[in-house]
Amino acid sequence: MITLALSKGRIFDETLPLLAAAGIEVLEDPEKSRKLILPTNQDGVRVVLVRATDVPTYVEYGGADIGVTGKDVLIEHGGAGLYQPLDLRIAQCHMAVAAPAGFDYLRAVRQGSRITVATKYTAIARNFFADKGVHVDLIKLYGSMELAPLTGMADAIVDLVSTGKTLKANNLVEVEHIMNISSRLVVNQAALKLKTAPIRRIIDSFAAAVGSAT
Ligand code: ATP
Ligand code: MG
Repeated sequence: MITLALSKGRIFDETLPLLAAAGIEVLEDPEKSRKLILPTNQDGVRVVLVRATDVPTYVEYGGADIGVTGKDVLIEHGGAGLYQPLDLRIAQCHMAVAAPAGFDYLRAVRQGSRITVATKYTAIARNFFADKGVHVDLIKLYGSMELAPLTGMADAIVDLVSTGKTLKANNLVEVEHIMNISSRLVVNQAALKLKTAPIRRIIDSFAAAVGSAT
C-alpha cells in the first residue's frame, strides 16, 4: 500500500491531474466527504488528508509514504529525512514582504531601524532579514497576517502573494520579493527503499506530467 498525503484545497485540486497521469483516480470528493482516508481506483494507493503544514511531518514519520507540499511549508519544516525528487510547479505564488502604503520600509531598512514583522513563516523571514543584515522583531501568527500592520501590531508582514488582491484590499503594498513558491513531491526515504517500484512509478508519471526529467 502506498499512502499519499495531500491537503484539501488547491494542493488536492492541482494534484488530481498529476494523479490521473499516473492512472490514479481518487474515489471521493474531500469537499463532500468527511473521511480523512480516501480510496483510489488502485487497491495499492490511498490518499490521506492532512493540514497543509502537517504534510512534511506525516511523510517524515512514515504516516504517509509520499506527499505534496509547498516550498514554504517545506522550508519551515526543515525537510529533515525527506527526499524531494520533483518540483510539481503547482500552487505557484511567491513569498513577499508587504507594508502599509504609509510605512517607508526602504527608508527604515536604509536607516537600520528595527522593524517589527508579523508572519506565519518565521524561518523564511528570519533567514531573509538576516541575509540582508536587517534587524527585525518577528511576531509569529497562524493566519490573517494582513491584520497585523492595520492594528499597529507590526510594521510589515511576510506572506504568500499570488494576485496581490488581498494585499490591495487591506491597503498593503509589496515592498520586497523573497522567493518564488511552488509545491513539491516529498518522499519518505525508508519507504522509497522498501517500495521502490510503485513509488518510482508515481514519481516518473508525475515528472512526465509536469514535463521535467528525474
Ligand atoms: P491551512 O488552511 O491548513 O492553515 P494553508 O492556508 O497554508 O493551511 P493553503 O491555503 O491550502 O493552506 O495553501 C497550501 C499551499 O498552497 C501553501 O503552503 C502554498 O505553498 C500554496 N499557496 C498558498 N496560497 C497560495 C496562493 N494564493 N496561490 C497559490 N498557491 C498558494
Ligand atoms: Mg488556507
